[in-house]
Amino acid sequence: MSSNCDNKKTVIPPKFILDGSLGDVAKFLRIMGFSAELRVTNLRREKIGPDYIVITRSEELANHLRKNGKEAIVLPKKKPKEGIIHDLRLIVEKVSPKRMRPYMFCTPFCQHCNSALMVRDAKELSSLIPEKSLHHLDWAYYCTSCNKTYWLGSHWKRIRDVFERALEGYDIVIPRPWQKSPPCQ
Ligand SMILES: [Zn+2]
Repeated sequence: MSSNCDNKKTVIPPKFILDGSLGDVAKFLRIMGFSAELRVTNLRREKIGPDYIVITRSEELANHLRKNGKEAIVLPKKKPKEGIIHDLRLIVEKVSPKRMRPYMFCTPFCQHCNSALMVRDAKELSSLIPEKSLHHLDWAYYCTSCNKTYWLGSHWKRIRDVFERALEGYDIVIPRPWQKSPPCQ
């Protein structure tokens, strides 16, 4: 098995709206393959679409949203040690691994602007990738909205380690550094 998306068409991808203070969580959700919008405004006053799940550290806000028929996940207020691993695991548990799995690492979203990334031949992005990395790459992700490029290089080992621990036991395929082809094509 080389990807997670075998039964993709049976479920709708979860989309997230996060409290403005949860930038690190949003970043990891985007890398994982989910749209994660950060909102710095008061989420009580915002219109939230029916397909969105709100992530917050405020129990009060979550209760308010749930009363209005919205889906909301509360992360612990006090950041535990290794907070991001704990937070991601909690999100996957609450949303359900079954619902998230088909989209995991399939189409990542831009860490900068939350647009869906495209797979490109690394050579086409040679002006955006340092020579020492380009040398090892056949492909990379590209954001057509903000012109940013992402690739699974040596830095990916650290990121992958976070996912490996957050997703332990869920039978999720996590891409490897410098892997020869994209997780989903
Ligand atoms: Zn972007």
